[in-house]
Amino acid sequence: MSKLNLWWIRRDIRLQDNPALEAACQGADFLIPLFIIEPALMNDAAPKRRAFLLNALADLEQQLHSLGSRLIVKKGPAIEVFRDLNEQYPEMAIFTHEDFSPFARQRDREIAQSFSLKEFPGVVIRHPEAILKDDGDPYVVYTPYKNKWYEAPLPNPADGLPAPEKLPSMPKGLSSENLPSADPPEYFPPTLQEAQNRLDDFIAGGGIEHYNSRRDRMDLDGTSQLSPYLRFGLISPSKAFALAQLAYMQANKSQTRSEIRTWQNELVWREFYTAILYHFPYVLEGPFRKKYKSVPWRAAADDLIAWQQGETGFPIVDACMRQMLETGWMHNRGRMIVASFLTKDLLIDWQEGESWFMSNLVDGDPAANNGGWQWSAGTGTDAAPYFRIFNPITQGQKHDPDGEFIARWVPELRDLPVKYRHEPWKMDEPVAQKYNFKLGRDYPQRIVDHGFARQRTLDAYKSA
Ligand SMILES: Cc1cc2nc3c(=O)[nH]c(=O)nc-3n(C[C@H](O)[C@H](O)[C@H](O)COP(=O)(O)OP(=O)(O)OC[C@H]3O[C@@H](n4cnc5c(N)ncnc54)[C@H](O)[C@@H]3O)c2cc1C
Repeated sequence: MSKLNLWWIRRDIRLQDNPALEAACQGADFLIPLFIIEPALMNDAAPKRRAFLLNALADLEQQLHSLGSRLIVKKGPAIEVFRDLNEQYPEMAIFTHEDFSPFARQRDREIAQSFSLKEFPGVVIRHPEAILKDDGDPYVVYTPYKNKWYEAPLPNPADGLPAPEKLPSMPKGLSSENLPSADPPEYFPPTLQEAQNRLDDFIAGGGIEHYNSRRDRMDLDGTSQLSPYLRFGLISPSKAFALAQLAYMQANKSQTRSEIRTWQNELVWREFYTAILYHFPYVLEGPFRKKYKSVPWRAAADDLIAWQQGETGFPIVDACMRQMLETGWMHNRGRMIVASFLTKDLLIDWQEGESWFMSNLVDGDPAANNGGWQWSAGTGTDAAPYFRIFNPITQGQKHDPDGEFIARWVPELRDLPVKYRHEPWKMDEPVAQKYNFKLGRDYPQRIVDHGFARQRTLDAYKSA
């Protein structure tokens, strides 16, 4: 009997460094590279994220062709797709990477009860069960988690798996749906080549050597902008970490090593939040620290809409929100600023923000997004204390000193002198006239007073 394996592609859209693909090829007479359009996942995905995924699959399909194979696309809940395929191929085995979201774990448990499902690493470098305290409990604070994480051998470029040179053939007579078409997101071309180029540019091009010094500057491209590629596995986290490690080993200044290590630590944050969601899946439903369930959040639909649309009257907040609406991505400092603004200045439930981000981000990931929101709201594992409230004006002045980021995303303020880009309400009448600018007409009035809001939030959190 011939051996037929399915490579079930989910968030590992790559040929290199892919243990599930490598295992699926071994000894197989036939290999079916399969993507399942699952309504539960695809129907609610942000349009830009969905477009990224579909175009990344189209790119993968071309590469599969050149290896003598093709992509099979099926629609439906995965379990039903496998039932149908199993009628045609009773001896099939499914190979995939292990995914850690509650939805994926539940789905995969059910599939494993009826079919041969073999899971491999790939989404993270270290399995959530691999980094535990000495007593076996999961870590809930990042720094000790990170220290433990670094104790195990670090990924090495020499360990990376090459892309296969040829794939086992496809069985005859297998039908496929067409991949739905969607315009690729402009700022994040979803191809394996682009993922590789970005990683190379960031590491070999030297960006990583200034990462710590530049990563908070919103007017500079100081970060890798690899998040959508990591989200869908166009690049493997092990490879990204390993190449950074090589740069770390080759750096001869301790300052350079520390800049590089800061970037590697961001990949460890990614692992940390994946582990938090794995061990505490209830975080998707509410605060990690349950006492914050009773924070008296405001129901303030108009304020929420102003925040979502970048019309709050606070330039740095509006610039960030508009950056996300346009590109599907937001700078990490920006994510922290707008999350603090929503939860602390507007006293609106962080879950509103979490959900708006998931509806818009091209890199939207339940674990990282939830972790980021709970951190900002002060309700999470490793959270900023609730009384640490960002001032949206000084944050802008510090991290966008020349107001260039604001000028880019809030064109109404572009022609103003730098100091007024941050605080347009400070212009007196003659200056405003000189620039033909009127607050309320050309740019919104502030929807809240920061000083008042700060006290309101302190009282609200205290009451919880
Ligand atoms: C409120 C909030 C929501 C967020 N939502 C998401 C999300 O949905 N998806 C997402 O990937 N990241 C999220 N982040 C984390 C972070 O903002 C982004 O990963 C980062 O901005 C992506 O840009 P980059 O690729 O240039 O990152 P770099 O600074 O170059 O970092 C490299 C990689 O490390 C990972 N990373 C960096 N910072 C974090 C972090 N704090 N937590 C987890 N992983 C991190 C990402 O995969 C990133 O691509 C969120 C942060 C906050 C504060």
